[in-house]
Amino acid sequence: MKSYLTTPIYYVNAAPHIGHAHTSVMADILKRNKLARGMDVRLSTGCDEHGQKNQEAAEALNLAPQDYLDQRAEEFQRLFDLVGVDYDYYVRTTRPGHKEAVARAEQQLFDAGLIVKKSYTGKYCKGCEQFKKESDLTEDDRCPEHNNIELELIDEPNYFFPMEPYRQRLIDHINANPDFVDPPMYRGELLKMLAEPLEDLSISRPKARVSLGIELPFDADHVTYVWFDALLNYLTNLEFPGGDYQDWWSECRHLIGKDILKTHGVYWPTMLMALDLPLPKGLVVHGHWLGDGGVKMSKTLGNVVDPIEVAEKYGVDALRYYLARHMRTESDSQISAETIAQVYSSELANKFGNLLSRAGKFAKARFDGVPQMGQLTEADEAVRAKALAAAQGLAKEITLTQLPERVAALVDAAEELNAYFAHSAPWDLMKEEATQPRAGTVVYVALDSLRLLFEALRQVIPVSSDKALAMMGVDLPAAPWSPALDQLQGGAPLGDIEVLFARVD
Ligand SMILES: [Zn+2]
Repeated sequence: MKSYLTTPIYYVNAAPHIGHAHTSVMADILKRNKLARGMDVRLSTGCDEHGQKNQEAAEALNLAPQDYLDQRAEEFQRLFDLVGVDYDYYVRTTRPGHKEAVARAEQQLFDAGLIVKKSYTGKYCKGCEQFKKESDLTEDDRCPEHNNIELELIDEPNYFFPMEPYRQRLIDHINANPDFVDPPMYRGELLKMLAEPLEDLSISRPKARVSLGIELPFDADHVTYVWFDALLNYLTNLEFPGGDYQDWWSECRHLIGKDILKTHGVYWPTMLMALDLPLPKGLVVHGHWLGDGGVKMSKTLGNVVDPIEVAEKYGVDALRYYLARHMRTESDSQISAETIAQVYSSELANKFGNLLSRAGKFAKARFDGVPQMGQLTEADEAVRAKALAAAQGLAKEITLTQLPERVAALVDAAEELNAYFAHSAPWDLMKEEATQPRAGTVVYVALDSLRLLFEALRQVIPVSSDKALAMMGVDLPAAPWSPALDQLQGGAPLGDIEVLFARVD
């Protein structure tokens, strides 16, 4: 079975931030979950290199646009590599194949009479790169998303794509496909956006004002407005309209932040309908990250979490783990360097790392490897069952909404294993010859259960999990993965037991 996961392509007008790292890491976790279930998966992430904001960013640095774009594209790619995003496509919208496919799609719509030219007068937000309706503005006539930007009054000829003809069909599609938008809360929001007639979508900018973009194939004085260009990346990756693009396209899910629900839930589906193409399988929507106390991150407040800084200080898995554990889809979540450090130490180090170190070192020192498992008590069975159930939570399909609770179940199981190990006190049992086999069983149960948890954690923190499994001397599980107890062999050697999650001050 195939699956095609996409993240938005990110504007490169500023350095990458935690939001970029987040969506791409989430897509990576969903990919690993699907791979573990034996699926064939492709993941796309990358950057949007066109538009006025990028052009101005290059100008501000006195760089030629292409030099600027090359630097930024590399910077974003370094971030995704650093945080372990296993992407199959790294999108750059300046790629010739993409530009040609966008122009072809535009020509097709133009020839079919589905693009119209008219003069446009309106208030334009440079932040959104969008004209704003009066009803969208704040009381003091500002864009609600970009309160610091003065809106420009612009009067210019523009090409438009009328979306209204597809509105009812889109409503019908959403109603007929309950999982088109996940979680359901955003389905309601999308239907609300579709409750009133849709405006015509502006798809061009005069080249005199914006030069960084794809020239319209039917009017060389205009470039394509960013969304019409950017959204098509999801198809142009697949070598649309050639190759086997349909096989992947029919299994496509877009991961998006809630701020771009309208572009992906209204603009994009209506564009696809006009192009006579099927809609993607669905949208996977998540909330945003806020700083401590629920305030927006900003340089002035000093609460910006730099994903590169965090990954370098605590390790990439500390960052991935926090994002997976504390992200919410239906509301915003809070993040700060302090809370990442705290969760890293209280959960990764103190629960998973600590038990691996204690049980692993004990097994090596006293049993010279994995001890033999003897008869099991009720307490043994209980912790084993809990670890197995928690691991099974990641052997099933996960949604972004479910991810934090599935990870929490692994933490609960690890916590119980720590308590079990401390309470069973194998070091005391080793003192009497008669109880030494019992000590072996306790250590076996702890290590084998922990192995299961790390097999599951491979989807979230692959680097550390694979290290842990190597310390336990076991092979990485093959796909499709089906979690099972008793995979450690009594008498088998253990690897070097090293500190998995080092303390950081
Ligand atoms: Zn705006």
